[in-house]
Amino acid sequence: MEKEVTIIGAGLVGSLWAVYLVNAGYKVRIYESRSDIRKAEIKAGKSINLALSDRGWNALKNAEIDQQIKPIAIPMSGRIMHSLEGELTFQPYGKENQAIYSVSRGDLNKKMVEIATQKGAEIFYNEKCIDLDTHNGIITFENTKTKQQQTIHSKLIFGADGAFSKVRYAGLQKLPRFNYSQNYIEDGYKELLLPANEDGSYKLDKNALHIWPRGRFMLIALPNDDGSFTCTLFMPYEGDKNAFESLDTDEKVIEFFKTTFPDFYDIMPNLLEDWHKHPLSGLAIIRCFPWSNGTTALIGDAAHATVPFYGQGMNSGFEDCFVLNSLMEEHNHNWETIFKSYEKLRKPDGDAIQDLSLHNYYVMRDYVADPKFLLQKKIEARIFERHPEKWMPLYSQVTFSDIRYSEAWKVGMQQEAIMKDIISLPGIEEKWDSEEIEQIILEKLDNKPE
Ligand SMILES: Cc1cc2nc3c(=O)[nH]c(=O)nc-3n(C[C@H](O)[C@H](O)[C@H](O)COP(=O)(O)OP(=O)(O)OC[C@H]3O[C@@H](n4cnc5c(N)ncnc54)[C@H](O)[C@@H]3O)c2cc1C
Repeated sequence: MEKEVTIIGAGLVGSLWAVYLVNAGYKVRIYESRSDIRKAEIKAGKSINLALSDRGWNALKNAEIDQQIKPIAIPMSGRIMHSLEGELTFQPYGKENQAIYSVSRGDLNKKMVEIATQKGAEIFYNEKCIDLDTHNGIITFENTKTKQQQTIHSKLIFGADGAFSKVRYAGLQKLPRFNYSQNYIEDGYKELLLPANEDGSYKLDKNALHIWPRGRFMLIALPNDDGSFTCTLFMPYEGDKNAFESLDTDEKVIEFFKTTFPDFYDIMPNLLEDWHKHPLSGLAIIRCFPWSNGTTALIGDAAHATVPFYGQGMNSGFEDCFVLNSLMEEHNHNWETIFKSYEKLRKPDGDAIQDLSLHNYYVMRDYVADPKFLLQKKIEARIFERHPEKWMPLYSQVTFSDIRYSEAWKVGMQQEAIMKDIISLPGIEEKWDSEEIEQIILEKLDNKPE
């Protein structure tokens, strides 16, 4: 008998998971509430670029589609910090040859949908899941154009319908003892498009992620293929100063950019037009458990949506697919066992990437421009270079390895505690690269609690 599966959501994670399942011999049907992304114009606020890193690439490679994604990915080997005075500081992300990659969400999604379809997955567009009985595998859809409803049966269902998942809300949340939390951070984000120069060249260094850290708020910019940069301003919603609500006139917006991001202001045409074109959006961490029941499992943002400050939301969703695929092989397609193993294994990692993302939010916001922080990074890089088996910086563990997020979080916090002591040693600025400091760190590593 043919193995059949239903996926709700043809976003980034749903379409990758479809590829895995088709590769494993399943007949895959995807129901997507939007119209076909390949034909649609990408809406403002949805054209964000994403940073794709090792975990994402591993999952794409394992599904044998990484080579098709490579052409739309731009390598960024480090951050370039823009000070108020316009001074630029480069911080490499990892070792030589290591990079994260800027990809347009829309282009990536189009490509993944294209690949899934070519491989044989069937996608039904404008079909919005409105109800789900997870015990019996009964799903109700409403067509967003005709408003016509249909009910289908499926023995195997994946909710890949994003942070505000209907599969979770209408299906799993009805279960007794279902845990759920949704927490918005104080900051929202607004996107701006920095266009290319007239000759198509980039206005900023193309192979870096640009950051204008300003304490309580920041602007970042990631390169696009066409010479432009997608820029995102992260800032509190509320407050008298430096908050979205305080920028309530065009004059205040201009003044804000002129005084806080002067080098950006100088190269950004049509600032006001762009400011008004793009919506202001919120950022939340959504936790839940269990992630599965009977016929149904949640993957990607539906299971563990996070704030974007580690650039890992999509990467962690892609890793879900990698893990599920391994479990599918290990447990010979016995889905009851696979679901139980999957949520047990992955939930701590989902929690950890949420904790890590929130942690990096504070780091990017408050510390990246701090001289002590920069010195700490130099010390860590030195130890990593001399003792790679003992010390891998947290950023590298998360971004350039497949160490479990939960392990990286634990080790990272132990390293933080050690560095806190080191950085407060008298005269550290002069002796940071000495044998003495190296020995203290190694001793502390040997004596750290398990
Ligand atoms: C500002 C910002 C920056 C980010 N930067 C990064 C980054 O640099 N790196 C990174 O890895 N991640 C990043 N992320 C996170 C990343 O965007 C998400 O983790 C990723 O999109 C999750 O993919 P998904 O497929 O699970 O969900 P989504 O991409 O949200 O896809 C869900 C799909 O389900 C469909 N759908 C929703 N409801 C229904 C329904 N009821 N019925 C049918 N279909 C439905 C939607 O239309 C959509 O196509 C960022 C997020 C934000 C907000």
